Amino acid sequence: MEKETIYLSLGTNLGNREQNLICAIELLSRILGNPLAIAPTIETKPWGFQSENLFLNTVAAFDTILSPHELLAATQEIERTLGRTTKSIDGEYKDRPIDIDILLYGNNIINSPKLTIPHPLMHKRLFVLQPLASIAPQLQHPILNKSMTELLKEI
Ligand code: AMP
Repeated sequence: MEKETIYLSLGTNLGNREQNLICAIELLSRILGNPLAIAPTIETKPWGFQSENLFLNTVAAFDTILSPHELLAATQEIERTLGRTTKSIDGEYKDRPIDIDILLYGNNIINSPKLTIPHPLMHKRLFVLQPLASIAPQLQHPILNKSMTELLKEI
């Protein structure tokens, strides 16, 4: 299995948010090894739902030999471990101690019932593109064929 560089979006708006991000990155590191980069954290308003609780968001890069679906199983296990109890159903979003989205898996394009990579909303979300562009400004979106810096300017 080839090693691939992956980018994960991490968000939290419940509990001790700094600690939630630290714990999530620690748990990810145990499975994936040390991160290649972690973006500075930003604070953002909830996207797609109403809540008084602001999010802390970051993006982390890792190398992995896990398959995309093995990676999804690992990130979902970490979400559960960190106390996530409610899943989004029918596009409904909720407050959450940690949400981990797989943004990119190398240059691979994946469309399975469980997994869409590149993440279909990544280029529309400032809370994804701002941290991502800070650690990987020249990284190309494999479908849109634009860099993260270019995509950020288009939001
Ligand atoms: P949410 O609860 O909004 O984080 O959505 C989680 C669901 O999205 C899971 O059931 C995943 O199977 C699905 N999903 C599809 N593509 C992705 C992706 N790129 N990263 C994370 N979850 C994904």
